Amino acid sequence: MNTEQFELTIGWLYPNLMSTYGDRGNVICIQQRAQWRGYKVQVLPLDQNASVEDIHKVDVIVGGGAQDRQQEIVMRDLSGVKADTIRDQLETGTPGVFTCGSPQLLGHYYEPALGERIDGLGLLDLVTKHPGADAKRCIGNVVIEVSASQLAQDLEKMLGSVPLIIGFENHGGRTYLGKVEALGRVVKGYGNNGEDGMEGAFYRNAIATYSHGPLLPKNPFLADWLIQTAFKQKYQTEISLSALDDTLANQAREAMFKRLGVNTPA
Ligand code: GLN
Repeated sequence: MNTEQFELTIGWLYPNLMSTYGDRGNVICIQQRAQWRGYKVQVLPLDQNASVEDIHKVDVIVGGGAQDRQQEIVMRDLSGVKADTIRDQLETGTPGVFTCGSPQLLGHYYEPALGERIDGLGLLDLVTKHPGADAKRCIGNVVIEVSASQLAQDLEKMLGSVPLIIGFENHGGRTYLGKVEALGRVVKGYGNNGEDGMEGAFYRNAIATYSHGPLLPKNPFLADWLIQTAFKQKYQTEISLSALDDTLANQAREAMFKRLGVNTPA
């Protein structure tokens, strides 16, 4: 099969309400890295106007962060058959990347600083509580060592090693995991709650994290993992992606590791 015969449809959760801290960069990164390799790409907003058919079309789902107010609007809109369809997609292995506010809405509930508890989709076994408007926010650069076993295994196979994830977190909510696996261990930063050393969650093929950055341009190997996993799910075949020139991204990563005093494996 030629690369043009592969088509990737990116579903973007509420682009207008959930794109804080440059999270739209994750959509652009997946789109661009697929197009550079000759794949056809379509971006489909999964928002108030999306139909269930739209949700069925997507091969990978991206969700960004949001302020509490916008997040509340989304969490109230995302219910019924639309919520069920997104949950089913992710449950059956559609890959996705969800940052900050999005994992909160994929969990059981979010308790905002002000106002009442809002129910989430319950896909991820986690809960998030905001300790109150006066509480310190978790802000700063974050470095994560991947501990999610399937992801670590896939990255090892793709790259021969498992790189550290870098990003930037800015959240008030504290997330506590139930039985779901964490994405990784915190090397620098706060992670899920600043207490238990865990960061994000990983379930089926969904990456959940507090890491903005945006995440994927800073960690392009995760974008490639999403593309590869999306094609594997869709075409039931293992595709090895052609190499791209990531010199710039790698230089930025090195500079960040140096600044944060993090030793990376040679
Ligand atoms: N409302 C969330 C919090 O402050 C999400 C913030 C975000 O997405 N950056 O915890």
